[in-house]
This record gives sequence, structure tokens and C-alpha cells, in this order.
Amino acid sequence: MKPIEQSAVAACATPVSREPSAGRAGLKFGGTDRFVRELRRRVDAYFEHTGQSRRDCPQMYFKTATIVAWFVAAYVLLLFVATHWWSIVPLAIVLGLAMAAIGFNIQHDGGHKAYSSRPWVNKIMALSLDMMGGSSYLWNWKHNSIHHTYPNIDGQDDDINVGFLGRLSPQQKRLPIHRLQGIYLWLLYGFLAIKWHLFDDFYNIAIGRIGEHKIPRPRGKDLAVFIGGKVFFFSMAFVFPMLLHPVWAVLLVYALAAFVSGVVLSVVFQLAHCLGEADFPVPIVMADGGERMETDWAVHQVQTTVDFSRRNPILCWFLGGLNFQIEHHLFSKICHIHYPALSKVVEQTCHEFGVRYAAHKSFFAALASHFRWLVLMGRPETMAQAK
Ligand SMILES: [Zn+2]
Repeated sequence: MKPIEQSAVAACATPVSREPSAGRAGLKFGGTDRFVRELRRRVDAYFEHTGQSRRDCPQMYFKTATIVAWFVAAYVLLLFVATHWWSIVPLAIVLGLAMAAIGFNIQHDGGHKAYSSRPWVNKIMALSLDMMGGSSYLWNWKHNSIHHTYPNIDGQDDDINVGFLGRLSPQQKRLPIHRLQGIYLWLLYGFLAIKWHLFDDFYNIAIGRIGEHKIPRPRGKDLAVFIGGKVFFFSMAFVFPMLLHPVWAVLLVYALAAFVSGVVLSVVFQLAHCLGEADFPVPIVMADGGERMETDWAVHQVQTTVDFSRRNPILCWFLGGLNFQIEHHLFSKICHIHYPALSKVVEQTCHEFGVRYAAHKSFFAALASHFRWLVLMGRPETMAQAK
């Protein structure tokens, strides 16, 4: 189905983020803002009608306490109680899942300023990423500013760039090794968290870039948080445990927990964007030589994103609304607790405006779709681009 007003190229860019643009050339969107204005009107009406708050939801504070208790319990049991492999291995997996849950729920909402209307509360929640080996400063650029503005645009969205080992979009160069990516990429996803902890953040800061995008290096308070976060993480993950346990055991537990969190975080992201149901649009070249996206910003967000398992209460709880990525991309500053209800509003509005709204019924249907996409992208270029 054709998106609305595809031919219009009137300036309407409505960047998702109010953060400074990190775009290399400030790529703009076309179309009009009729669709997004109507969406916002209906979502405003929903909150007015229900009397609910967009942020500072009591369920979210309770959920945070539950997940933090889950993480601390797994960490303390591993550090002080577990002594046999049959208790250490499951606990390391439980710890990895807790790390993913913190990322999906607490850090993600905090980083998007969707957790609370108080900036300091969002900041504290976002800092959970620094404590788990990432960087809230770099995430703000990579995810908030770049990915959320330009999802699935090759060369702009760094999240669809996994290096030469994976071809996730039709515009990326195909290599013979990609023929097998439907098999080996799943394993590689697990190593992404380890690479992130040990290499990516330091590399991005050193070169002052994320993919094609120049970023300012952190200074002052941001630099202190970056360094403090790394010191905290390396102390908790390696130094303290090594005071009580053999080095090899600590490294194995770290590798297993990080692998589990890496697989879960990566797969959940891929199920939202890297499937045949999502678009991978390319900018059009204007008469003046500049580039612009054909659709407006909101249509682009919907058509490059796919929901899944919208009726599964366990996944909805664990994934922090990341199975409702369409709603998240449109309303990233609203707490994810509201996404199931908002998805009905968004789906209906998309239907009326002729904007394709895609959702997989189950997690496994989405998983199968991602697998098919990897296989398609791994085939010789001519076939893969005939999507
Ligand atoms: Zn997000």
C-alpha cells in the first residue's frame, strides 16, 4: 500500500528528538504533517478521556523495584552463594535477562525522558546503562538522536549496521559470506553486548563519530559520568568477583550473562525493524542536488517499524513496550505502560490515512520473519533487492 502523500515534498520534517541533530547533512522528510497532527490529537484525547498520566506511572515505579530486586538477587547469589556449575550457569542466564530487562524498561524509558516529568528522575534511570557497561551519553546520540530520527535509512541509522558480517538492508553491499548469515548472525548478536562493553564506546569516543555521524566528545559532567560508569561496571563485573572467585570463572560468568543480554537485546531490536514487513527507504535527490525523504517523518516511522506479540502479557511486561515499537517511535516521550492502549489509536489512524501498519501476532512469527529477511538479504544482490 502506498503511504499517504508520497509525492509531496513540502518541508515538514518533524524530528522525533528535540536533541541537537547529529545528521551528517540534516536529512529532511517530505510530505505534510496532517497524519502526525491527527495522531497527536487522538492521543491527547485518550489521556484527557482516561485521566491517566503520560509519565510517573505507579506501575512503572513498581516494575522498576521488581526488576532491580531481580538483578541484585541474581548478582548477590552468584557472588556469595552459588558454588556449583548447575547453580552458576542458570544464575548467569537469569542475570543476563535481568540486564536486558533493565535496558528495555528502566534505561530506555529514562533515556527517552518517558519515565518521569522530573528530569532528574529520567537522568537516574538512564544512568542504569552506565552501570551496566554502556554509556548513556553515547546512547543518547546513537539511539535517541540518530536511530529514532532515521530508522532503516542506510548510512544514517547505525543500528542497521553490524559491520561486514551482516547485511541487514537492501542498500548494503552483499558479500558471499552473507549467504550463511541466517545461521551465524544469531550467534554474533550475543557478542554485540561484549563488543559494546569492551570496545565500541571507547572507539566511538576516540574517533568522535558513530557510523557516518560526527558526535561531540563528552566533557565535564558527561565525561565524569562516562568514566565513573566504566569504573563502576568493570569493578562490579570483574574486580570484586575476582577477589572471591578464580579469574576464569568470573570471565565465563561475565561472558554468559553478557551473551544472553546481547542476544535478547539484539533480537528484540531486529524484530522491530529488520524484516520484510518493514521499509528500507532511500532519500530522493532534489533538483538542487540535495537529498530528502519522500514521506513525512511520522509515516516513515510507522512504515519502517513492525510490532509483535501485542497480546502477550508476559512479553509486554518484560520487553518494556519494545514489542510496540511503532507506538514507541511515534510517542517516545510517553511511558511504555500506555503503548498497548495507544496501539489501538495508532492502528486505527493508520488505517484511515492509508499508512501501512504491520504487526506480527506472535514472537515466533516475528522471529521467523527476521530469519527470512536475513536469508533474503544473504542472496545475490539482484534477488535481494527485488523486495
Ligand atoms: Zn527508543
